[in-house]
Amino acid sequence: MTLLRDPLLNKGTAFTEAERAALGLRGLLPPCVLTMETQAERVLTNLRALPTDLEKYVALNALHDRNEALFFRVVVDNIDEVQPIIYTPTVGLACQKYGLIFQRPRGMFISSRDRGQIAEILKNWPYPAKLIVVTDGERILGLGDLGANGMGIPVGKLSLYSACAGVHPEQCLPVVLDVGTNNEELLNDPYYLGLRERRLTGEAYDSFVDEFMQAARKTFPDVLIQFEDFANHSAFKLLHKYRDEACVFNDDIQGTAAVALAGLFSALRVSGGKLKDQKILFLGAGEAATGIADLVVSAMMAGATEAEALRRNWLVDSRGLVVSGREGLSGHKLRYAHAGQAPIADFLTAIKTLKPTAIIGVAAVGGAFTPEVLKAMAELNEQPIVFALSNPTSKAECSAEDAYRYTEGRALFACGSPYDPVTLSGRTFVPRQGNNSYIFPGVGLGVIASRSRLVTDEMFMAAAHALADCVGKEDLAQGSLYPALPRIREVSVRIAAAVADVAYQRGLADGPAPNDVKALVQSQMYEPKY
Ligand code: NAP
Ligand code: MN
Repeated sequence: MTLLRDPLLNKGTAFTEAERAALGLRGLLPPCVLTMETQAERVLTNLRALPTDLEKYVALNALHDRNEALFFRVVVDNIDEVQPIIYTPTVGLACQKYGLIFQRPRGMFISSRDRGQIAEILKNWPYPAKLIVVTDGERILGLGDLGANGMGIPVGKLSLYSACAGVHPEQCLPVVLDVGTNNEELLNDPYYLGLRERRLTGEAYDSFVDEFMQAARKTFPDVLIQFEDFANHSAFKLLHKYRDEACVFNDDIQGTAAVALAGLFSALRVSGGKLKDQKILFLGAGEAATGIADLVVSAMMAGATEAEALRRNWLVDSRGLVVSGREGLSGHKLRYAHAGQAPIADFLTAIKTLKPTAIIGVAAVGGAFTPEVLKAMAELNEQPIVFALSNPTSKAECSAEDAYRYTEGRALFACGSPYDPVTLSGRTFVPRQGNNSYIFPGVGLGVIASRSRLVTDEMFMAAAHALADCVGKEDLAQGSLYPALPRIREVSVRIAAAVADVAYQRGLADGPAPNDVKALVQSQMYEPKY
């Protein structure tokens, strides 16, 4: 009976006659023995009959809690259909409704009441974690502070690690650091499951997170820790504090940077432009924007000085264009606060003044790429680059359809959440997701396989190139700047090998480089089968 209730071992109706006899399962299952294929078909049939995406999320979550191998089989074989349910956009809604749809806990909830005992508490986790995705829930997608409800994000990200890169589910630990929430609605929600108090701040917050970091690394030696969906005042600080001493990265800053750079490489293959000649205007000046800009600057420096490269990247934040001399600019914006430019309050005027070749939306302001913005870009450029990267779909800067329509089909477009193909004057465009989900699974696999001590920006640069190398002419011909999702495991292997190569070359890996890094990576991949 214990076996049937352990999702890592359970096969349900697929336990064979011999297994049933040997493992004390006779009588506990209906007599018919099904194959995994039949089980998977049944799951899909049920899933497709459900009326809403949230119900599909709940059903898949229940399967995840019942039978991991079958869950991952279904995800891997139907990634285009299932990823939007277990990840953006539906995961956003699932987080908002987390208290309502809660059935079984998954991952670990460490609250500020646990101070002084975190190491003790982490011992309750029964598996040898090699990969932790941790959030404090303060900036969940573009939805803001969702407190402990943010747990859906680490759970979703780790599902993609296993599905898209074969990191073994047993090695994955989702964590929410519940330091309270400032979301009034949640504080008054009878079903909210987190601490009903305001967020910890200042020294109390820093020391709490530090206790977690030390305890996690002591309990799970060599663990890779991914920071996810922290508000930017914490995100930059935490990354800076731990990146040179621990195996950590921030996906919103670094993973996003790599996926966006790969998208730019693809776009330039279509337009024939050079990266160093682009002028990029970001809507948003937070984790994603400055993360992308920093990596773009590094890449531009292959053919330009740092000063030239910086000057080709401009940010617009909630107060307008970031320029030198503007008061109260936070540290992460300073590199892009250029001199000799008067302040500009709105995005459209900034476009008309600066004449960018690319606009990248990462401000979580839904609809900010208005028809006027898109038309202005189409007037300035033969093939304007338009990336609407904010999530979930409600926060997207524009829809795929608008991006193509208002640029007469000339936009080189990528989106943070999925959009269906768009047909315009007889031509069909297949937009693909500029989402860090193309990057982090492979990066994690490469770091774990090489047992790298640190995660470096050079690894994200290598990941961006590896991803871009996976994009074929057929993809570009239909407007796709990324490879098709069903190829993701092959893509992840290439990214992981590129990342592991960096680890070996820089002496960060444990042991000498193997003859065949790709084979090493592949040998560690989990296959969802019985
Ligand atoms: P963040 O650090 O909080 O940054 C948000 C930025 O948007 C801030 O700079 C903010 O300005 C700016 N902003 C807010 N309202 C604005 C307005 N009306 N006009 C112009 N700028 C405005 O958040 P983030 O981590 O960068 O994430 C932002 C969005 O990107 C979210 O929707 C997230 O889901 C998405 N994202 C997507 C991916 C992906 O892979 N596709 C990855 C990461 C993040 P201030 O600085 O003035 O506050
Ligand atoms: Mn994120």
